[in-house]
Order: sequence, then structure tokens, then C-alpha cells
Amino acid sequence: MSQQNNRTVQDNGIAARGCLTLEQIGLRLPPATSEPLPADVKPRGVFNAVLDESHTSLNLQGSCERAWFLGSGLAPGIDPHEQRLLRSLSSYMGGLGTVVHEGIRRVLDAHREKLNPEGRVLKSPTAYDFSRILESVLERFSFMEGDSWGESFPNGNPDRDHPRFREHVKLKHELVGGSSPAQVSIPEHSPDARHFSRYRETLRQALENWHSLFFLDSEDVFKSDPRGLVPAGGLRHVDPALILEVEEKNVAYFKDDPFQLLSMGGFSIPYYEIEAPIENPPVPELTKSGLQARFTFRVKAVLDFVYLTFTADGRPRLVAMDWKTNMLDEHSGRPAIVAQEEHLVQLKHYALYLMQRYRDVFQRFEPEIRRAFSRSGREAPALPRELTADMVFLGDAYLSGEGLSAQHRFRPVCAADLDLDAFVQTLRQRLISKVAKFSKIEPPTSEISRWAPNGIEEGRCSGCNQAPLCSSAPADIKSEWPESVSGMLSLLKHPRPKP
Ligand code: SF4
Repeated sequence: MSQQNNRTVQDNGIAARGCLTLEQIGLRLPPATSEPLPADVKPRGVFNAVLDESHTSLNLQGSCERAWFLGSGLAPGIDPHEQRLLRSLSSYMGGLGTVVHEGIRRVLDAHREKLNPEGRVLKSPTAYDFSRILESVLERFSFMEGDSWGESFPNGNPDRDHPRFREHVKLKHELVGGSSPAQVSIPEHSPDARHFSRYRETLRQALENWHSLFFLDSEDVFKSDPRGLVPAGGLRHVDPALILEVEEKNVAYFKDDPFQLLSMGGFSIPYYEIEAPIENPPVPELTKSGLQARFTFRVKAVLDFVYLTFTADGRPRLVAMDWKTNMLDEHSGRPAIVAQEEHLVQLKHYALYLMQRYRDVFQRFEPEIRRAFSRSGREAPALPRELTADMVFLGDAYLSGEGLSAQHRFRPVCAADLDLDAFVQTLRQRLISKVAKFSKIEPPTSEISRWAPNGIEEGRCSGCNQAPLCSSAPADIKSEWPESVSGMLSLLKHPRPKP
């Protein structure tokens, strides 16, 4: 923790590191600079490609700056259709993760209760049929596979030859070989369709694991949770009124919530803000006058599950869970080290978001808290004035594979132990150096040479959707892709098989 923060802690009479607030992390105000900052640069409109961030985009920038730039739509001279198409491709495992999340969301949405600001029930908990949810999710996954191969995946894009899986594009390219695409007849089913049953099994198992180990607590492990983060008997015993978020992308915010949400089309995306002072801002008016600026970045954060709970002696816990479908190492029962590190960074973003958005959670959700206590027959404790880091707990729940109990799959950390102050400082520096790569931000102008192809050293080119656009991509990777994906797909377009 910085000296300045230490001083604030002492001034406030707060001794423990665990009681960190946003100001002590330095999230509200950037560090003091020698001169006062004359200009604020904030994201405008529905989406600002320079100032809007997410864990995924920051992660991509960390592993290959070039891949981020090519995927951002800001690189000059690229066909926008090709760029959108490449950007939207997913892997089989990515599609699997999407449908696992959908299945879980349906169970949690059924369990949830929502009140309006006056405390009236807007949505009561309802029954759900897990086997039906499981079957429909499996069906959707098969549908994704079939339609991705048939090039008519209904993903909201008006273009009907819009594919979904990167693997399918590469397979089609291989089938075309050296021939002209127009001469090639593509089989009705993907050659991978047989192997797809393996993914379906992984999907079924992940969803069943979540339901039995986390929601129903079939092994009865949560009663011995010393931190009281998951109620004994599993997530089904989280009070329905204290569920705050279930992948909150398109929720109607009916509660009195001063927190701003980023609107993208029909969606509302939650995010946290971080400010960064920039000495030579790429804003012509400021550069001419030699002025500095303060840039506000928005980091999007869509958490899978957030709820409020209280220990037996009344201490509040704001708990966030993220569902993960990574393959686990059969010996350690953990995902690969690189994935673990990346997931920890994601949890830090989530912690900052939770601390900004739920700073006043005890005031805003007081009716829900009182209702939950009255339902349980316990007396409600005195509520704190502000949410602090020691009350926030986050963890990934690893759902794949068999033979692992919930304790090993979910190892939550407290936000107070995440070194958030150091994280914020490093993040701010990264954002400053990103802005420096632009010569202008309205509209954003940059040269591709400023964005290093560091994905080559990181060994990430084989999973990179931007490889067809990247002049630095290794030759063997490049050869897996057609020169123009949109061109090849439109030539291969064939009528959808009749059901
Ligand atoms: S192909 Fe490799 S170097 Fe090029 S953008 Fe993708 S990851 Fe980066």
C-alpha cells in the first residue's frame, strides 16, 4: 500500500488493511501530478473503442497488441465485413461455455426474487425443471454446431453466411484445398460432428456438477465453510431477495441506482471507471496548448453470480462467483497455471467493479436485507455505512471433470487480499501507454506498426481470429485460413438442409 494510503488509513483510524475503501485504493482520483489537470476526456456515445475496456480486451492487449488493434475495427484498410466476421468467431469450447452459462442462469433466475423500490415483490421465486433445462441446453449446443456448419447461425447479424466456430472455417478451407470454392461441394455435416459428442458430454457433466455440487450441495460441504460464504445446503439457500446479479447484461434497473450503465443496443453493460492522467493527450486542441488531460476509462464487468449473505454473527459478505469450464489437470485438479493467473486478474477487475457499484449496497438493498432476516427468523444486524474490501469475496467455480468436490473447485479470495492498490497503479500505466499509441482519438487514428505482434512470442497465433489480417502471422498459421474468409464463405454458401 502506498504511503499516502497508509496515511489515510491512519487518519481515518482504520487499522486493518481489510477495511480498504475505494479512495484508499486510489480508484476515484489519479495520483497527484505536478500541475493541475485542465481537461477531462470521458467516453462518449454508446461505445468508445479507445476508452472502453474489459478483462478480455485487456488480456488480449497483454498477449498481443496487434490482435487487439486488428479486432478493434480501428485498423485502416480492412473490409469491415471481414473484420466483424473474424471478430465474432468462437472456438468449440467457447460455445460450450456460453451454453453452460445459459443453463445455470435459467436455474438462478428461477430462484431469484426482485422487489421494487417500495419493497413490493415484482418477481417471486419459481419452480424449475433441471432435466428439461439440461436437455434444452444440449439441444442448443447441437443446434449451434449444425448451424455453424450450415453458415446460418442466428446470432443477430443480418448476414446469413455468418459462421460461429473458428474450427469450421478452417475445416472448410481445408476441404476446398487448392480448388476454386465454387467447384467444391461441402458435406451436409461437419467432419467434426462425430467428435462433437465429446463436447456434449463435457457440457452435460459441467452443468450437472454445478447443479449437484454448488446449487444442491449434495456433498454437504458448505456447512463447514469457515467464512460463511455459501449457505449450508448450497446456493439454493441464498436468500432469493439478496441475489444481486445473474450475468446482469440486459436487466432493467428499477432500483434507485446512481451507478451508470453502458448501453449497447438493447443491452446494459455494467462497468467500473478508472481515471488516468495523460501528459501528451492525442486531442489536437490540448496538444496545441501543451495541456494535460485526465482520461476516464470504463472497464466492463459482467459477473456470473453476485449475492449478499451474512455470517451467523451478522457480518456481511458480498460474494461473486464466475463459472469456468476450463479443462482441469487430472493430478492437481486445477486449470493450467496461465489460466489461473488470468482468472485471478479477472477477479481483481470484478473486485473493483463490486466496490464501485455496491459501495452503498446496505442502504439501497435495506428492504431486501430486512426481508431476508425476517424470513429466516433472525434479527437483522446493524448495517455498515459503506462496503469495504474485507466484505467482498470472489472466486471461480471450475465445473468440468469428475471426482472433485466443491471445496476444490471453488477457492474464494477476499478483495482485501488482492493487492488492489498495486493492481490499479499498474492498470493505469497500461492505459496511459495504450492512449500514447493513438495520434488522435476523435476519431481514433493510429498506425498498425505501433501495435506489436507479440502474440508470436506468446504462442497465441493458432487461436487468433485475426491471423488472416495479420502480416506477421507465421506461415503455417496463415495457411490454415483462406485469404478472405467472407469471400470463401459466400462462395461456399449452400441451402440449409430441410429439417
Ligand atoms: S496472428 Fe499472432 S501476431 Fe498476428 S495478431 Fe494474431 S496473435 Fe498477434
